[in-house]
Amino acid sequence: MNIGILGGGQLARMMAQAGIPMGLQFTFLDPKPDACAAALGRLLVADWDDAGALETLAECDRITCDFENVPAGVLERLAEIRPVRPGAAAFAAAQDRLAEKRLFESIGLEVAPFAPVASRIELLEALDRVGYPAVLKTRRMGYDGKGQYLLRQREDLEPAWAALGDDPLILEGWVPFDFECAITVARDAAGNLRCYPLTRTVHDNGMLALARCPAGVDAAMAAAAAEAARRLATHLEYVGCLTLELFAVGDRLLANEFAPRVHNSAHWTIEGTFCSQFENHLRAVCDLPLGDPAARGAALMVNWIGAIPEPVRLLGIDGLCWHNYGKSARPGRKVGHATLLGHDLDDLRARAGQLGPQLASYTASLLNGLMKVSV
Ligand code: AMP
Repeated sequence: MNIGILGGGQLARMMAQAGIPMGLQFTFLDPKPDACAAALGRLLVADWDDAGALETLAECDRITCDFENVPAGVLERLAEIRPVRPGAAAFAAAQDRLAEKRLFESIGLEVAPFAPVASRIELLEALDRVGYPAVLKTRRMGYDGKGQYLLRQREDLEPAWAALGDDPLILEGWVPFDFECAITVARDAAGNLRCYPLTRTVHDNGMLALARCPAGVDAAMAAAAAEAARRLATHLEYVGCLTLELFAVGDRLLANEFAPRVHNSAHWTIEGTFCSQFENHLRAVCDLPLGDPAARGAALMVNWIGAIPEPVRLLGIDGLCWHNYGKSARPGRKVGHATLLGHDLDDLRARAGQLGPQLASYTASLLNGLMKVSV
């Protein structure tokens, strides 16, 4: 079977790495000629709405995405010819933070206080309602902390408006979370669901830095997270893997956002589970039975952002799995990750020191417990 992927970045690359052993072949469409998935399939270099490239992509048996900001119209056009999974509705909801928050509320998920902002006056009114601290975000095209401005006090209003005021915006109350977590669920076209274990996450400057499983939460919180992801996937009649990102505050979980695709917080599932998010996404897309998402043990994933460290010493660590995406180094760019596997959390704690002093102190915050962002 041939899989067409809109986007040829590292997510497409890891999907292909999971799909090739299953006998799948891949075609990627990406505007960038150096798209890193190209090593694993055919790359069509073209804009998202290039009619010729879309026609070629539509020759594939199934279409999926590695990029959530593909124009919904393009997905709808492709869906007239071939199964596009997940479908345009999930993308439309995830692409607009306001629609996404309203969707969460409509299915009974708790969210931070929020208000749409279309003018400076509306921002003032929204701040009166939401209060400080609050975070102003562009409704569209924001990811990895981009298009966000934290407002701590009245004096921050003008610079925030100057930075973002040209776009449709949403103001959110800042959540004083104890920690962040993410839950990934796979759903097939028949409605069967398999849920991965909850992952604890740490963001640095709005970008995912670390992910850990087990998350170290009680059974009630783990069940609530799984139920939230199930409800979302079921409501959207979703096909593939989706990830819901959550803030944990006391014993409550607040939905932050969801990704209608495979997700960085679940990269540890490649080696850390019986069937990775990438394989399960493809199984769902291809109408194959979903695989077992259970963890084999404990896992800690570290993102390489900006540059890949020297591998020689790190590869000497037992249980360390290395991923270099083959992308050129650039500040703020995700260029690879590593997953450290252990029998359990104590085992991971005991061995995290081998990552070296700098990485070890960075990961210690996640391994040892809660990481609170101070505002
Ligand atoms: P987002 O792009 O909305 O997922 O934001 C990226 C990261 O910024 C989140 O994972 C949090 O670490 C932080 N963040 C975003 N919105 C909020 C909020 N309302 N309250 C607290 N932290 C936030």
